Amino acid sequence: MQLTDWLPTTRKEMDLRGWEQADIILFSADAYVDHPSFGAAVIGRLLEAEGYRICIVPQPDWHGDFRDFKKLGRPRLFFSVAPGCMDSMVNKYTANRRLRSEDAYSPDGRHDMRPEYPTVVYTQILKQLYPDVPVVLGGIEASLRRVTHYDYWKDALKPCILAESGADLIVYGMGELPTADLCKTLEDHLLHGREDAYCTTEQFQALMQKYPVRQTVSLQRKEDITGGIQADDIQLYSHEDCLQNRAHYAANFRHIEEESNKLHPQRILQQLGDRYVVVNPPYPPMTTEQIDRSFDFPYTRLPHPKYKNKRIPAYEMIKFSVNLHRGCFGGCAFCTISAHQGKFIMSRSKESILREVKQIIQMPDFKGYLSDLGGPSANMYQMRGKDRTLCERCKRPSCIHPAVCPNLHADHRPLLDIYRAVDALPGIKKSFIGSGVRYDLLLHSYKDEHLAQAAREYTRELIVNHVSGRLKVAPEHTSDRVLKLMRKPSFKLFHTFKQVFDRINREAGLRQQLIPYFISSHPGCTAEDMAELAAETRELDFQLEQVQDFTPTPMTVATETWYSGFHPYTLEPVFSAHSPQDKLRQRMFFFWYKPEERSRIVAELRKIGRPDLINRLYPPGANFAPRRQSVPSSASAAASSRKAEAQRTPSKRSAVSRAPKNQDAPRGKSFRKGGGRR
Ligand code: SF4
Repeated sequence: MQLTDWLPTTRKEMDLRGWEQADIILFSADAYVDHPSFGAAVIGRLLEAEGYRICIVPQPDWHGDFRDFKKLGRPRLFFSVAPGCMDSMVNKYTANRRLRSEDAYSPDGRHDMRPEYPTVVYTQILKQLYPDVPVVLGGIEASLRRVTHYDYWKDALKPCILAESGADLIVYGMGELPTADLCKTLEDHLLHGREDAYCTTEQFQALMQKYPVRQTVSLQRKEDITGGIQADDIQLYSHEDCLQNRAHYAANFRHIEEESNKLHPQRILQQLGDRYVVVNPPYPPMTTEQIDRSFDFPYTRLPHPKYKNKRIPAYEMIKFSVNLHRGCFGGCAFCTISAHQGKFIMSRSKESILREVKQIIQMPDFKGYLSDLGGPSANMYQMRGKDRTLCERCKRPSCIHPAVCPNLHADHRPLLDIYRAVDALPGIKKSFIGSGVRYDLLLHSYKDEHLAQAAREYTRELIVNHVSGRLKVAPEHTSDRVLKLMRKPSFKLFHTFKQVFDRINREAGLRQQLIPYFISSHPGCTAEDMAELAAETRELDFQLEQVQDFTPTPMTVATETWYSGFHPYTLEPVFSAHSPQDKLRQRMFFFWYKPEERSRIVAELRKIGRPDLINRLYPPGANFAPRRQSVPSSASAAASSRKAEAQRTPSKRSAVSRAPKNQDAPRGKSFRKGGGRR
């Protein structure tokens, strides 16, 4: 490989390509990994394929003389600021607002390579150095801050990030279609392919008013809004109103979520001082052809050579995993995916997936074990509504909550076909499923016997052939009342799934573990709910390890409920634990088996009037020694599981921005391309 196989990051690399000037310069707070799971690489490769000269400046030094911001000069079209696949603040801080020990997207996990709020910091520097050059924001951080939002780290409501940063436009959601359209608009209406022409901020803003690009956000004066305020525009409560009225703030989110999940969304407007935030509706879901194109660009699949042999944790986790689709119709309340990727599933073709797997097989350090064949949820590949006209009128945030939609064609056969085709490739010893599996889709009573049979077959195939010793699933809570607020199925379903899991393991002669994920301090959850959770999971013989304290990341139903005290859909009041002490009090119940927690738990149970739970948690004569978490399985599965665990993608998310578990580990989906999730 040679240096020109990567997109240029320095003046020298531009010279190697014979470029005097870039068309677009993208500033990222992540290390540059040329891989389809990393947003900067995807947008970079897309623009390269469209014929633009795109450079990437990863992790610029924001101190001193700003030489990293000046070294490539000014671009012809615009600067892009896209800090990364994961919410920048979640990447930096734990749920308790403590600095993480490691940044998963930095070389050697260094946590001093990105500032707080990189979108704001980078843009302000660029605007100081080049006031006349437009700045376009992308990535999770800006996408989830496109209107008034709650900032957990400052504990305050903040306006659309355009106001604080001074940038000119946000591209929200998955950026390929709007970014390509934006560049084409500038070329067609302003630059006309002339090498000596530049786009100025003033021209850029005028063009965005005249030729608005879908899936973008801009700040405009009322008289400049394209076509004026229309009858079918959705007008949110203003930013100033939100500062005064928490119920109004909560009510806004219902519109934001619904419009993010409709096939025919409307434009959203929000007044901010003397201007309006104009949120143009998103593109329809990408077609298979479009999404294949995005995965088929000529990525090197490697970190830029400048990192030499430094470890980039997120890359180590995903380098042997394959993303099969985007979107998630689960609609979990604490998850950002619906506001970022939407609920409609966009699936790659089998050919594109196999092409990527064959590339992985050629990698010198690949030993035959794929760590994940997944997506935002593992088992939604190619699922869609049977009658599209019903989906076109639908506003539901979830296709499976509170019940599986009768119109959903939840067919597991295409996914089974992918698993089998991948496993049949020479060079593949085993493919694992690291993404979260929706067991409610597996256990649903389908009227169509073909779907029922496929779900049973998938369940067996998953458990027997694709689990690396431990299958992670996410019941998230045991209280049905809390689960309803989370938009998750009843815990009874977890009991059923555990029985199925244990039976299939017995029949196959395996001793694999089911690892359930849980969340404390979610809106609606009380200390008593957590005490019940501890007792119930103890009786199921679990000592929990995959747990997290709820982190209110921007733009989720749960965050808006947590901050405002009202559910955005019903506007009914909802209790939430807010203080660090109350949150820790809930969290300690996960660890009932640790000797150091016992006296505090017993005291708390007495305090909340539930001494009956003391005996359920600590029956006389029982052994409470914390168990070492082992990975029991058959000999061969155990061998492969050790390899896979080392390679495993932490199961999502995503997207993308789910809060971390186990204090320090950012929880999986956030690592996924375009993330958004969690
Ligand atoms: S009609 Fe059913 S399948 Fe279609 S989008 Fe709505 S909930 Fe999903």
